[in-house]
Amino acid sequence: MAFELPPLPYDYDALTPYIGSDTLKFHHDKHHAAYVNTLNNLTKDTELANKPLEEVIKATHNDSSKATIFNNAAQVWNHTFYWNGLKKGGGSPSGELAEKINSSFGSLEKFKEEFKNAGATQFGSGYAWLVLDNGELKVLKTLNAENPIVDNKIPLLTADVWEHAYYLDYQNRRPDYLQTFLDNLINWDFVAQNYAAAK
Ligand code: MN
Repeated sequence: MAFELPPLPYDYDALTPYIGSDTLKFHHDKHHAAYVNTLNNLTKDTELANKPLEEVIKATHNDSSKATIFNNAAQVWNHTFYWNGLKKGGGSPSGELAEKINSSFGSLEKFKEEFKNAGATQFGSGYAWLVLDNGELKVLKTLNAENPIVDNKIPLLTADVWEHAYYLDYQNRRPDYLQTFLDNLINWDFVAQNYAAAK
């Protein structure tokens, strides 16, 4: 069975004005779709084609002969995860997750500072992440398609910092995109759901 492109979980204009419909159209329908198509071409008629996406990612990560498969598989996963973490309005975490963020980072504002700094200082393309690592919340940045699940860290939230994620709306102002993401675009219900499943 071929890997599939999940539909964008909201309308193209659902995140306006923070992320515009042109960005979502190109990012989902062109970039994300291309990773799915390439992954299907690369794994066609191989045993990887029938494995769950997470297994493909883990099985190819340390095999340089399969780097292109890894990159496309991880990009398929990363984008689906990114879309699900976005919701216009943002707001704040509540309950146990809010307490864990406060005890881990000092405050929600301190978490935002750390996450923004991780995304802004990721040289070139990549992602900023909030993960659960051995029961602890941590902020990470990764290069290109790299994904924390290969290190047994559990992603709770990610921000795509490839230029295609923000250039139409923010041009070179990646820190502004990240600040907007943190203040207005986090689906905290999704983060809380991931935290509850992982802790
Ligand atoms: Mn992207």
